Amino acid sequence: MYPQLIDTHTHVHFAAYKGDMDEVIKRSLDEGIGMITVGTQSSTSKKAIEVAEKYDGVWATVGLHPSHLHKQEFNDDNEFDPGKIKTRTEEFDPEYYRELVSHPKVVAVGEFGLDFYHKPRNVEESKVIEDQTAATNLQIDFATEFNKPIVVHCRDAHDLQYEVLKRAVDEGKLPRRGVVHCFTGSLEDARRYIELGFMISFTGILTFSDEIQRIAKELPMESIMIETDAPYLSPAPNRGKRNEPSFVKHIAHVLADIKGMSYKEVAEQTTKNAIEFFQLDM
Ligand SMILES: [Zn+2]
Ligand SMILES: [Zn+2]
Repeated sequence: MYPQLIDTHTHVHFAAYKGDMDEVIKRSLDEGIGMITVGTQSSTSKKAIEVAEKYDGVWATVGLHPSHLHKQEFNDDNEFDPGKIKTRTEEFDPEYYRELVSHPKVVAVGEFGLDFYHKPRNVEESKVIEDQTAATNLQIDFATEFNKPIVVHCRDAHDLQYEVLKRAVDEGKLPRRGVVHCFTGSLEDARRYIELGFMISFTGILTFSDEIQRIAKELPMESIMIETDAPYLSPAPNRGKRNEPSFVKHIAHVLADIKGMSYKEVAEQTTKNAIEFFQLDM
């Protein structure tokens, strides 16, 4: 399948699609929309590969999200079966992920990074920052060893996130760089990531945030990818509903308006960017 669009960051293997995952994936593929389904901890990384194995046009990533480093007081029922394991504390175990990352459908390491928005309230702030930074550095080294790009999750932490990435690049790590997904930083943040060789990826927030639209307008098309981050963050006109990969087309339409380009041009350029960045096999 040569896709017309690629949802570069989705979680179609999460429990939110427990009853209809295959239909959701097929609905998207039938529209010519491929996807990269992103792992967030040991269990969901493994599951992402199992799902990617089943479909032409679906790829996976493996990694440990900062929300899974500490026991959290909030719970995400989309990710887990409510009533089963509510929260889990994990450390990044290179031995475990080593087996996963060699799978031909695994195209990146992540998502991981710094999230100071969802800080657990029961852990000392300095400890949270220290643990998130350590897990980030471990996964940077891991991605470097396996020559994969990274999927960076960063919320309210762009100064330190940039510093960590810059240091890695200066040390000769991350030859394939990475993408800062669900971008919600400033224009200045975006520009320095791009200068470092990173991509910027926009979610459905682009469809309703003037600020994010203003940033997207200024950035070069060659550095932009689009994603749903489903099941979260449904774009307009589906706000408030469960998100799904096929909705990435709404984000492409808005991006076309912002850039004064046709939908087709935006689809072609962002798909090309994704294929090159992730080195997708067609
Ligand atoms: Zn994320
Ligand atoms: Zn995500």
